[in-house]
Amino acid sequence: MDNISKNAYAKINLGLDVLKRRPDGYHEVKMVMQTVDIYDTLTFNVSDQPGIVLNMDNNELSTGSDNLICKAAGKLLEESGIKQGVEVFLEKRIPVAAGMAGGSADAAATLLGLNELFELGYSLEELQKIGVKLGADIPYCLMGGTALSEGIGEVLTKLPSPPQCTLLIAKPDINVSTKYVYENLHADSLAYHPDIDGMIAAIKEGDLSGITDRLGNVLETVTVREYPVINEIKTLMKDEGAKGALMSGSGPTVFGIFTDAKAAKNAAKEIAIEELAKQVFVTGFI
Ligand code: ATP
Repeated sequence: MDNISKNAYAKINLGLDVLKRRPDGYHEVKMVMQTVDIYDTLTFNVSDQPGIVLNMDNNELSTGSDNLICKAAGKLLEESGIKQGVEVFLEKRIPVAAGMAGGSADAAATLLGLNELFELGYSLEELQKIGVKLGADIPYCLMGGTALSEGIGEVLTKLPSPPQCTLLIAKPDINVSTKYVYENLHADSLAYHPDIDGMIAAIKEGDLSGITDRLGNVLETVTVREYPVINEIKTLMKDEGAKGALMSGSGPTVFGIFTDAKAAKNAAKEIAIEELAKQVFVTGFI
């Protein structure tokens, strides 16, 4: 085999709580992660030239060694002692700097793709150990699906899939730095914590209302203050029939959970008409 393709799926957070800031600067989190049907596609080709060459259909992102795809490929080739190089082509669809873990998903797909391409035989756990050194969300992206994520993101517990529904995802035309949001979060004096345990119970019971009643993300306290458009999109989605709406990750992407696909499509049109977001997707959970 000298080439392989992998899809890298985006995630949303149905719940995101920050428990504390650790002395080393990392935050301890408790998050419910959910893979959604928006994905990048990565194609890997073995090359006789050593090194990693990245090309893509997107001119916003660097193709250099700072791209997480190059970092992940470099790390895996180094760990495994592979002398050949690799050419990667990225078809980018996941909104960038959006709170949907696009970079982490690409890094995870790179680790999985190269593990197969070079028949390295690493287990999922071994890839997760390599991945966490590059980013806290990468271990989750390697596993996908629905999961509780604790620690700094590396302690993962698989959960059953929530009931199917229609998801509306809207990314306003602003870029939010995850670093800025965490630096401005007063993690030790938060007035509110989402009911993550209650949400897990609702997921296990297949109770969609129990899930939508408990949507919560403490990072909204920082991002919404800076970008009121996030609240405007949430309000519009709820007015248009969403059972719940929330910002994902550090934002600015907002998702709404609908039981009526037509209502979700109408809300998507309204968001476009009011120019609240340029990137809008009507999609679902994976
Ligand atoms: P998270 O939800 O994990 O915080 P995010 O969705 O907020 O992530 P990303 O799309 O992963 O943000 O991008 C964050 C930054 O990472 C980008 O601004 C970009 O500079 C850098 N980056 C490096 N590699 C990639 C990649 N393959 N795809 C997207 N961003 C990348």
